[in-house]
Amino acid sequence: MKAIILNQPKDFSIKEIELPELKEDEVLIRIKDSGICTNDVRDFNGDCNYSYPRIGGHEYCGVIEEMGSGVSGRRFSKGQKVVQYIIDDCKECFFCKHGEENICEEHPKSKIFTNPDGLSGYGGFAEFVVAKAEDLFVYPDSTDFEKMAFTEPLACVVNSINRTEIQFGDDVAVIGGGTMGMLHVMMAKLKGARVILSEPLKERRERALTLGCDDVVDPVNEDAVEKVKELTGGRGAQVVFNTTAIPAIAAQAVEMTAPGGMSVMFSSMHPNDPVPVDMGAVHSYQKTVTGAVSPTITSFHQAVQLIGKGLIDPTVLTEQIYDYRDFDKAIAAAMKPDTYKVILRFGE
Ligand SMILES: [Zn+2]
Ligand SMILES: [Zn+2]
Repeated sequence: MKAIILNQPKDFSIKEIELPELKEDEVLIRIKDSGICTNDVRDFNGDCNYSYPRIGGHEYCGVIEEMGSGVSGRRFSKGQKVVQYIIDDCKECFFCKHGEENICEEHPKSKIFTNPDGLSGYGGFAEFVVAKAEDLFVYPDSTDFEKMAFTEPLACVVNSINRTEIQFGDDVAVIGGGTMGMLHVMMAKLKGARVILSEPLKERRERALTLGCDDVVDPVNEDAVEKVKELTGGRGAQVVFNTTAIPAIAAQAVEMTAPGGMSVMFSSMHPNDPVPVDMGAVHSYQKTVTGAVSPTITSFHQAVQLIGKGLIDPTVLTEQIYDYRDFDKAIAAAMKPDTYKVILRFGE
């Protein structure tokens, strides 16, 4: 099979490598569409402590090409459209048992990140990937691959929304109007909230309004905290999602949170410098500060339902689809700060 191998940061080659071996409880997935994540860009640039060579890509979807002898023919069949839960949760640690498999304590030790004996990576930038049948989610035949490729990013956002208790008519502020910020806007609207987006780029603010966002704030020319308070009767928003990687903005997110409200740190921080947060206000106004990281199995399932049933169409956020052989162009497009989701297409 052909795979996009990252030999070293910023150095890749598209190579023919052997098909991964199939164990009896596994299936071989023929990858169709594979989204490029911000994390893949950081990985490409060498900003993560992963081992090389590696095959990136964790936002993939495809069809079952081959099934191991132990895979249930009652539930799965060749040609079925599937996505895979990408966290290799151990199912044994405290957090897996506690329903928090997305923070499984074994996952960070996975060969996905460091593999001294060979390739690391999720493996989604290749023609095929192997998955355990128990990690599969099946889509209806009618679902487009382009939509399915949004499963993992949407599942991350569903997990983020599930951390909160958004009520009908609540004020929700989203900071950052990139792909993940926009998915938060769309999902908070589905939850019946009035949504305010803070985003410096005019084109993105305008796009948010077409996606149902109620109000927008330009944080360069306005004080975002003051503007959100002004729009919310001086209270702030009940729920604030910070989708930006800048620590100072994380502190602002807490500031624009209403008494009794919650701020969710959705993005990782780059650089992860500590920031002063008004803990007196967290105390006096009973604010909650939390984070959201990878998808849980439940949020993955919910993302599949949302996309498969047409309750959300994330492809409004597709920037461009590239043939995988044009990976150089695709990664360059994904690197641009104003770009939305770039997708690699494998096969025809
Ligand atoms: Zn991702
Ligand atoms: Zn675990």
